[in-house]
Amino acid sequence: MDKKALWESILLGLAPVIGKAHILSFFKDSVILEVENGKITIGVASEIALSYIKSRYDIKILDAAREIMPETREVVFEVKGSLVEEKSPSRIDMRIFSQADHKPARKVPNRQEILMEDGMRSKMFNPKYDLKKFIPGNENKLAHAACMAVAAKPGGIYNPLYLYGACGLGKTHLLQGTGMEILNNHPGKNVVYMTSERFINEVVAAIGSKHTKSFKDRYRKVDCLIVDDIQFFGNKFTSQQEFFHTFNEIYDAGKQIIISSDRPPSELDGLEKRLTSRFAMGMVIEVQLPDFETRMAILNERCREQEVMIDRDVLEFIAFNVSSSVREMEGVLMRAIGESQLTQTNPTVRSIGDTIRKINGGIELKNYNIDIVRKASPRTPDDVIDVVAYYYKLPKSDLINEGRKKEVMIPRQICMYLIRQALSHSYETIGERFGGRNHTTVLHACNKVESEMHENTRVLRDINALKKELGL
Ligand code: ADP
Ligand code: MG
Repeated sequence: MDKKALWESILLGLAPVIGKAHILSFFKDSVILEVENGKITIGVASEIALSYIKSRYDIKILDAAREIMPETREVVFEVKGSLVEEKSPSRIDMRIFSQADHKPARKVPNRQEILMEDGMRSKMFNPKYDLKKFIPGNENKLAHAACMAVAAKPGGIYNPLYLYGACGLGKTHLLQGTGMEILNNHPGKNVVYMTSERFINEVVAAIGSKHTKSFKDRYRKVDCLIVDDIQFFGNKFTSQQEFFHTFNEIYDAGKQIIISSDRPPSELDGLEKRLTSRFAMGMVIEVQLPDFETRMAILNERCREQEVMIDRDVLEFIAFNVSSSVREMEGVLMRAIGESQLTQTNPTVRSIGDTIRKINGGIELKNYNIDIVRKASPRTPDDVIDVVAYYYKLPKSDLINEGRKKEVMIPRQICMYLIRQALSHSYETIGERFGGRNHTTVLHACNKVESEMHENTRVLRDINALKKELGL
């Protein structure tokens, strides 16, 4: 394989791990300069790029290279300033990374197409909003059950179904999930999901093009009309009028209507009474912030989907501190996962605290079990031992005493290594704190940890996280 093809394959392997955006920004001007005896030399354009890539992606590049060339032992980097201008034949065309995300824009289909074509219809729905992926909890049991009932029998007793609640609590998820579930249960039905803004835009466009066909005719074939965020109809009287007629047409034909809003019908500003009273005639249900247990279940589910393992304490800390919306909570989690992948550390209570503070602009966090991990820089070996014991959820005595179980061996070695790093104590002194062990045992532990760090990403992540905890 030539150098260009090799580098292209490595970066393609790396892209799903670190994200295309990072590939495009950090590897734009990079090439493979040389491949020799299992050593790959990568040329980058500047010192900054070099230190950035090296500190963040070193091991990931090695992993990706081994996938393609298992004999790869080492990846090294070299600065080659001329790369920026040079049209070297080994340079790869970075467009391969942007293409997949930039499909040629499609012409917006007209309504008739949406109603007729299955492919078009399914494009309105996002599979991540599957009703089965909604965790009802105590707070939203009723909303969820009503959606299930509507999906089983659209146009039945829950008509219209009106869900309301603050932003980020799962209304769109429930609406879209119900739409998809109706299609699953009744494949022939015409289900249309739209935001009220989209409806308004269509009305405006129709007026502009002097479309004579009224909306109620356009929507005549709809078996279920779902309109999200109805509050945007406020003061848009022409749109309200069109919607009123459409609503009546669909409702009178015994078809289903599902609506969401940020407030109950009686509090909608700028909406005509005849419209809000129709919203109120079916089932009106509030969507609320799920309780702590349900928030934990949602976080666990997201971790499972992302295939990441995050400590229960850390998830509890997120669930405990984020109390305004599920969307915000998912945002904190995704950011934590992203940061931990970039910096090769496991998220900790402390790092999540920083993330939440950044997002919320410095508000104080609820004090959840955080005291033990918020120590100042360690001053004694026991300060380090406490943090390591807490991190691995091991009793302190297990770290210090003789036990030879594998689960304690590595944490104990890491602990010795960190004491050495943090306090520069001699191997003898460290040995003494660990039940009078010989200094060669400590030396061996430190060497072992250093070599493990290069071979075992789990160990590297643990150490990076622990160093952060210890302020090193
Ligand atoms: P809204 O439309 O109320 O502003 P969304 O439906 O967009 O909120 O929900 C925000 C995010 O939270 C979505 O990713 C959604 O999947 C998720 N979410 C909210 N509630 C739940 C729940 N009970 N179970 C699973 N995911 C949820
Ligand atoms: Mg929404």
